[in-house]
Amino acid sequence: MSVIYNRVALIGLGLIAGSMAHAMRRAGLATEITGYARSPETRQVAVEIGLVDRVCATAAEAVTDADLIVLAVPVGAMGQVAEEIADHLKPGAVVTDVGSVKRAVIEAVAPHMPEGVHFIPAHPLAGTEHSGPRSGFAELFDNRWCLLVPVEGSDEAEVARLAGFWQALGSNVDVMDADHHDLVLAVTSHAPHLIAYTMVGVADDLRRVTDSEVIKYSAAGFRDFTRIAASDPTMWRDVFLTNKQATLEILGRFTEELFALQRAIRLGDGDHLHAYFTRTRAIRRGIIEAGQDTDAPDFGRAVARRKAAETG
Ligand code: NAP
Repeated sequence: MSVIYNRVALIGLGLIAGSMAHAMRRAGLATEITGYARSPETRQVAVEIGLVDRVCATAAEAVTDADLIVLAVPVGAMGQVAEEIADHLKPGAVVTDVGSVKRAVIEAVAPHMPEGVHFIPAHPLAGTEHSGPRSGFAELFDNRWCLLVPVEGSDEAEVARLAGFWQALGSNVDVMDADHHDLVLAVTSHAPHLIAYTMVGVADDLRRVTDSEVIKYSAAGFRDFTRIAASDPTMWRDVFLTNKQATLEILGRFTEELFALQRAIRLGDGDHLHAYFTRTRAIRRGIIEAGQDTDAPDFGRAVARRKAAETG
């Protein structure tokens, strides 16, 4: 693979930026990667593990002379970071972000972008419940989608170059409008996270009654909720504060459906329940056919355990 952007600056050095650094190196996409994170601790870890070529003491220093600047901080910090770097961007540079919400990021960042700098928002649909500079890995984006959300007047050639960059990181790329993005993500990611947070919270309340049973017998569906509910609290606080409207819309619909299922249970309406669960099972099949998850039972955990036991 060949270099797509000579110098790349990563602002924020957590899961997403770290994974981008690893994947860029895997494919040889940049000649120099600089990085900056807010805390000296994170910057120190990044130096220790050689996460990027040069860790800088300020965001301004990291972006100086950079051809691509990636804002990989929580959504609520995007505006402040954009303001910090604005005067240090070189003409013709591309600024992108990886924020999980798009309309709010555009509103926070675009006003700070100087003339001659290309701002092209993006969102890789890939992540884990881990965060911080040690959590990244090169394969995170492989065969996952990255959505580009160009703003009015975005240069088409630069959008195509950024698309090529994400493809070289392993992703499939689509282009989407910001409001549509925020609604789709409210359905596929944001509302499910809130539901998982709630379910784990309810179980935690219950634990006070049932002692350790909730943890001891958590092999069923609950364990998967706990993985999602272990996601970074700052990131998810910002997602809900900034994708308010779409999330509330989806939660409203969710509540209506929940009441309908609750009613079916009360009335003993097995046909309703069976038809509903048949429909939802087909959705899982669609996700597997689209190559977005494994078909192995229990997400492949049993197979992984058996292999680990075999290899000693
Ligand atoms: P993360 O692992 O928690 O890393 C966030 C990084 O941002 C840290 O290095 C943090 O530095 C830095 N940071 C926070 N506030 C800052 C500020 N004001 N100035 C400079 N640096 C600051 O988070 P992540 O999972 O990589 O998420 C980064 C972005 O990607 C978020 O916008 C999130 O919505 C989006 N995203 C996340 C996922 C996911 O599943 N995790 C998936 C797709 C997109 P310190 O360590 O010094 O605090």
